[in-house]
Amino acid sequence: MARWVVAADFGGTHLRAAVVAEDGTVGYRADRRTPAQASAGEMVGLVLDLLGEVVGASGVRPEAACIATAGLVNANEGKVIFAPNIAGFRDVVLTTPVAQRLGIPAFIENDASAAALGEFRYGAGRGTRHLLHATLGTGIGGGLVIDRRLYRGAQGLAGEIGHMVVDPSGPRCACGSRGCLEALVSGVAFAARARRLLEQGKSAVLKEIVGYEEPTGVHLFEAARRGDRASEAEIRNGGHFLGLGLGSLVNVLNPDAVTLSGGLLAMGEMLLGPMREAMRSMAYGAAGSALVRVGELGEDTGLLGAAAVAFERLELG
Ligand SMILES: [Zn+2]
Repeated sequence: MARWVVAADFGGTHLRAAVVAEDGTVGYRADRRTPAQASAGEMVGLVLDLLGEVVGASGVRPEAACIATAGLVNANEGKVIFAPNIAGFRDVVLTTPVAQRLGIPAFIENDASAAALGEFRYGAGRGTRHLLHATLGTGIGGGLVIDRRLYRGAQGLAGEIGHMVVDPSGPRCACGSRGCLEALVSGVAFAARARRLLEQGKSAVLKEIVGYEEPTGVHLFEAARRGDRASEAEIRNGGHFLGLGLGSLVNVLNPDAVTLSGGLLAMGEMLLGPMREAMRSMAYGAAGSALVRVGELGEDTGLLGAAAVAFERLELG
């Protein structure tokens, strides 16, 4: 008989939940918009209702629950410490109320770490033993699978590759440092690069595309696609720094593969070409043989990642 868990993926726009079988089959699923404003208590209520609905309607009996969420998480205490894009998620213990409501063990995990284990079990990381996963979206996240297990580090912060400094004289990051990967190559970084080009009057194409909107990375990519050299140079420069970051990590960790997910992948070779080039240029010995693969789980990365964490927790007891 198939074993099931109930998995949830919470981000700044959507709260998703589903029952997932051990082989990665997704059963009944539900989806809510993330409320723009909510207290911690209201959010806990929403989470309990969502997971309760999924389990009730699914017709299966999940053995555990796992919530993957954006933000800082203390997995041992089952707590979201802070999630910048989710209202009410500040110092909230989620696992205890979920475990009480559903009568099964409940776990919580940072979404990028969960994504790593998801790609490892069900996606582009299948068949590897050591995997580095990078999420390339509004921010930059990462996760590590070492010896087929999710690696969390001492405080559960392992894999925060977005705050690896690759250019000490680079732009200021939201975390306070300078030249973090996230400050150079992320949705937020590309928006800042677009804004800078506009302020310097360096791109008429970009100016026309942005119009009266707030400049974004999507605008920058669109300008580059239309042949704007200045915009393309910004994206290529971001790709170069991404390669320096990932290449350094490959030299440290010697993974079998590096998997990538997230919205920035839409930039395709304009981003990934310079990234690969930088990785190749700095590869130390055989570390350079690590395969770079695009993730296979798409929109379900978070859900399948949460499910993978739940199954791993069950296996490890
Ligand atoms: Zn930072």
